[in-house]
Amino acid sequence: MPMNVTPVPALGERINHIRLLTARIVNEEILPFERLLAGRADPGSGPSADEVRQRIRTRVDEAGLWAPHLPPEYGGAGLSFLEHAYMNEILAYSPIAARLFGVVAPNSGNQQILLRYGTAEQKRRWLVPLTQGQLESGFSMTEPEVAGSDPRAIRTTARRDGDFWVINGHKWFTSNGKRADFLIVMCRTEDAGGPGERNGRMTQIIVPTDTPGVKIVRGIEVWGRDSDHCEILYEDVRVPVENQLGSVGSGHEAAQHRLGAGRVYHCMNAVGHMWRAFDLMVERTTQREVHGGLLETRQFVQGFIADSYIDIQAARLMTIACAEKMDAGGDARTEISAIKVFVPAAFERVVDRAIQVWGAAGVSGDLPFWAMAQGARTLRLADGPDEVHRILIAKNVLAGAHAGQGWNFG
Ligand SMILES: Cc1cc2nc3c(=O)[nH]c(=O)nc-3n(C[C@H](O)[C@H](O)[C@H](O)COP(=O)(O)OP(=O)(O)OC[C@H]3O[C@@H](n4cnc5c(N)ncnc54)[C@H](O)[C@@H]3O)c2cc1C
Repeated sequence: MPMNVTPVPALGERINHIRLLTARIVNEEILPFERLLAGRADPGSGPSADEVRQRIRTRVDEAGLWAPHLPPEYGGAGLSFLEHAYMNEILAYSPIAARLFGVVAPNSGNQQILLRYGTAEQKRRWLVPLTQGQLESGFSMTEPEVAGSDPRAIRTTARRDGDFWVINGHKWFTSNGKRADFLIVMCRTEDAGGPGERNGRMTQIIVPTDTPGVKIVRGIEVWGRDSDHCEILYEDVRVPVENQLGSVGSGHEAAQHRLGAGRVYHCMNAVGHMWRAFDLMVERTTQREVHGGLLETRQFVQGFIADSYIDIQAARLMTIACAEKMDAGGDARTEISAIKVFVPAAFERVVDRAIQVWGAAGVSGDLPFWAMAQGARTLRLADGPDEVHRILIAKNVLAGAHAGQGWNFG
């Protein structure tokens, strides 16, 4: 079933145009070939996966929508944050579409760090080839020995030795680790100057993966399958000081910036995935007969439809409100935490109902629900677990109360 997208009256012409163009490519070029493109079907007498990919790339280029998160001077479409958020829900209707539009995590997050903090030389050497697909990258922050939910606890150190940084540490869940040509590594640099207080002790450093001392220990099995989320040892890894991103001590702020925007994108992706699960669920209820009647006539199932509609609408509007506040330059930390808790949980509920309606087919490889269910569950702990975000919301609300103010929902 194609995604049903029409202009949103409250939106400007440009965003509506981008949404319609994106939906057209997703509906016409991606959905009919989804299984082929994901390597789960044979082309038969039709075009090969590579031919379809090439055709999609041409249409994306013609529409000017390649790499929507990057400015035109780096080969991107130059969309604003809000425009990109609105485009994401359409891309996520198909789980493979974002990659076909040049948005591939963790490269996309690294591109944005390089854009914001990189020197002209770093942009030339790392950002441009990353955008053109000539390089791959990873973001290496989480460590097995300390809580990832408190990123300031990291133990990996970078010590200055003349014109070099010398890095020692142990990371895991560095996504894309085996494919990466370089990694952006979060290091503790407190002996090297910098602002000094607790947030100012981290620095991000670019480490080419072929540097002596970088040891990819393994790709960690995730959900019972091999993965490219890697455990990595850094043993006396020497890189020139020019590989430092931003000033000494700016690493924590850079990570928060990356994660804040990333959470909104993840939530808009979740909305797109839910939209697809919802359409598939509703379609099935109109076709499947059980015990002498269509599923759509059963009140249990009508409840699934209504509750899923409510979950998606609530998740979508919360995320859009948050993106609008960020786009306007407001402090949206409370809103970001709220969507990071609510949206993945809504996503889990919607996918779970879709699986139930489809019965055995719902957990098969013929439908996208199995990956959605795992993705939704993972999202509740990655990029900050639910509990940490709840604590943040309560902290911000209580700070206002102690200052004698009620919360401003407006
Ligand atoms: C598929 C996948 C890909 C990932 N990719 C990357 C990547 O590319 N780069 C990278 O650096 N990291 C990556 N991560 C790591 C991810 O960001 C961390 O797993 C996450 O930040 C949580 O850290 P942790 O696993 O150490 O859990 P911990 O910090 O040990 O937390 C464990 C649990 O403790 C509870 N908890 C934590 N704090 C509190 C609190 N204050 N109060 C109450 N309860 C609390 C929560 O329930 C939490 O889930 C990835 C993870 C996954 C699963």
